[in-house]
Amino acid sequence: MNRRGVSAYALAAALMISGVASAAPAPRRVPKLVVILVVDQLRADYIDQYGHNWTGGLRRLMDEGAWFREAAYPYMTTVTCVGHSTIVTGSLPRTHGIIGNSWWDRGSGRSMSCVSDADQTLISYGAPVKGGTSTKNLLVPGFPDELRMQTGVAPRIVTASIKDYTATTLAGRRADAVVWFNLTARAFTTSSAFASAPVPFVASFVKSHPVEAYFGKSWEKLLPESAYLYADDAIGEQPVGKGTNRFPHLLRGDGGAPDTSFYAAWEESPFSDEYLGQFGEAAIDALKLGQGRGIDYLAISFTTLDSVGHGFGPRSHEVQDVLARLDRTIGSLLAHLDRSVGRRNYVLALTGDHGAAPIPEQVTQFGLDGGRISARDLIARVEKAVEPALGPGQKIAGVAYNGVYFAPGVFEKLRANPAAMEAALAAIRATPGIARVFRADEVAHAFAASEDPIERAVATNFHPERSGDLIVITQPYYQFSTASTGTGHGSPWAYDRRVPLLLLGQGIKPGQYLEPASPADVAPTLAFLSGITLAAAEGRVLNEALLPASAAAPVPPVRK
Ligand SMILES: [Zn+2]
Repeated sequence: MNRRGVSAYALAAALMISGVASAAPAPRRVPKLVVILVVDQLRADYIDQYGHNWTGGLRRLMDEGAWFREAAYPYMTTVTCVGHSTIVTGSLPRTHGIIGNSWWDRGSGRSMSCVSDADQTLISYGAPVKGGTSTKNLLVPGFPDELRMQTGVAPRIVTASIKDYTATTLAGRRADAVVWFNLTARAFTTSSAFASAPVPFVASFVKSHPVEAYFGKSWEKLLPESAYLYADDAIGEQPVGKGTNRFPHLLRGDGGAPDTSFYAAWEESPFSDEYLGQFGEAAIDALKLGQGRGIDYLAISFTTLDSVGHGFGPRSHEVQDVLARLDRTIGSLLAHLDRSVGRRNYVLALTGDHGAAPIPEQVTQFGLDGGRISARDLIARVEKAVEPALGPGQKIAGVAYNGVYFAPGVFEKLRANPAAMEAALAAIRATPGIARVFRADEVAHAFAASEDPIERAVATNFHPERSGDLIVITQPYYQFSTASTGTGHGSPWAYDRRVPLLLLGQGIKPGQYLEPASPADVAPTLAFLSGITLAAAEGRVLNEALLPASAAAPVPPVRK
């Protein structure tokens, strides 16, 4: 059976199960290009608060796409690599194994980045640089991996981002082009996992689009002053480098020529989003994505909102301006897809990898509880609490996100000594801003079916080898932070878990949907439309947003 036959069968089976249709299965077109756009740190309510300013691509996705307004991650550690791994695999961290951007690796006694791979090397489009990435830590295949294996015509696979772990994760195991910006090299790079040498079209793009052209450019407000909510210069904002909290932001760095601080400022400006959008358009043209016989795949993760959100917070004019400009960047990309691939030939999903917390110092201005917790202080409290039972010396090997990792043998000693264990837990609970603490051994056994949403969020994030011995949950609006400015994400609270989920294109029924949904549903839905099976997906097909099979135009059978 050819690819189209398989997908027609899958759709007919789904319709029969749901009782929607009983007519003979109609042949269904598969998309020629699948596009995933991730906006790093995109809170769901940014659309509600700031969307009235948009007229470009984000606006078009809201008006012409299927918009899931109540989408949220179901798990605890709402950070970038976990979100991207969930989006690309359709499974949850308990299954895909990426429980944080990094975790404490008990085998090596070191922190492990989600994509670091010592067996790989970096291939630079500029100065050489050390390192290497791959998705070897991802325990299940991604959508592009399954696409490669299950379709008769090899897909062309392209991903791009400013961050290494987002471009890498979205690609899966192999790809035609994977690019990100490496601040040490001050150049775009890829990994030997994906290429043995610079990819010619990427090399010519970066040569003809030098980042240095942005040197001296000023990031001004795009919209009239009255379009921005809240204040431009609010308490707790953290400027980039030596910049200020107010517009305009000059991309100049510390000297008269581009230096590392200039490249960092470029990364944290909407100009790097714009650059990635242009790269996406160039990739469509160079590789003729969506214009061949197979199903191609393009994924871009827009990074700027995350870096600007960390520094300036969700209420800032900077965040509002990044979104207004991203609306234009995505509008241009959609117009390019329409022209080059055709509106009826691609399907696109846009979502966020996590939300963001408001700046704690702004929360307390409203008379609410909120604040910053020092991980070092927490460690000291636990070490002191267990010292009477276990003696002096270091007991905690590392802390990563919500996880506290004891030195080898310590957790076993505490399990054998309930009073000492309780002393450790009580010390954490007594820390201001901490809501709850869990033991890994109780999470592993009891939580998956819990009626307590926090326990479920902990369980879906839990991996027995990679998770901490103790798992710590902050109270709402508290965060682990050693800074006195800026903000973060990574909690199981709604402001970090809720993100928009939008679908557009072939097979998608426009509208607003309030059904529960999660970014884990993105890959299963795209797999269904592409007529392939994901090995380990836990998300669902968002069937309420799919057109019935009869609405998709039949295509002639493929001649082999
Ligand atoms: Zn972040």
